[in-house]
Amino acid sequence: MAGNWKMNMDHLEAIHLVQGLHQELTDANFDYTKTEVVVIPPFTDIRSVQTLVEGDEMGIKYGAQDVSVHEKGAYTGEVSATMLKKLGVSYIVVGHSERREYHNECDKKVNTKARVALDNGMTPIICCGEGLEVRKAGEHVAHVLKQIDGGLEGFSAEEVAKSVIAYEPIWAIGTGEVATPEDAQEVCAAIRVRIGELYDADTAAATRILYGGSVKSSNVADIMAKEDVDGALVGGASLEAVEFSKIARFD
Ligand code: PGA
Repeated sequence: MAGNWKMNMDHLEAIHLVQGLHQELTDANFDYTKTEVVVIPPFTDIRSVQTLVEGDEMGIKYGAQDVSVHEKGAYTGEVSATMLKKLGVSYIVVGHSERREYHNECDKKVNTKARVALDNGMTPIICCGEGLEVRKAGEHVAHVLKQIDGGLEGFSAEEVAKSVIAYEPIWAIGTGEVATPEDAQEVCAAIRVRIGELYDADTAAATRILYGGSVKSSNVADIMAKEDVDGALVGGASLEAVEFSKIARFD
């Protein structure tokens, strides 16, 4: 269960939110061995989250929302994988639809960023998903599978099995318009089948596939009940400790 905070929360608010989330999960006797909980704050909050989580055995992990394709050097505004690794980051979101749209990130760039994450010992959360026009035209599965083919290019079976895929239909992100559990299942299942074709059945079974798009505590259980949905990538509803802890428990 991953909470993508997007461009919300300064570092003081981040501390408050992670402490609140930890408290909620502790009160509920949350079992971190069954469900991984990941918060994905802006870069400026990561050090604060690290100091909270580190050494406290909290069980909450954290990620970054993006990474540079470059190792180091004259790339003003960029943040490298080695910098993130040093801050104890476990996950890196790559190819979120907002980065594809506002920063022109193509499948090739998404693929390179995922490679950079893996090469530096972190797990990429590779996002894919179709816009409303593509969905209306009935081409959503083909569209997503093309993103998957491009995103995973050059990966070994072991690398794919370690990675996380997040299916996020763009029309359901931040709109309150949640895909039905059947919509989520259809595409998540197609992704798993494709991984099976590209690699093998074990790799397909091991790869974690998340659904994202207006996930809330009130709809998460029905989505999680679907066979090929292994978790959720949550935006807006991850900004509130009680709500996100309920989502993480999905009971
Ligand atoms: P949302 O965002 O939950 O606010 O729809 C999901 C995402 O973009 O990861």
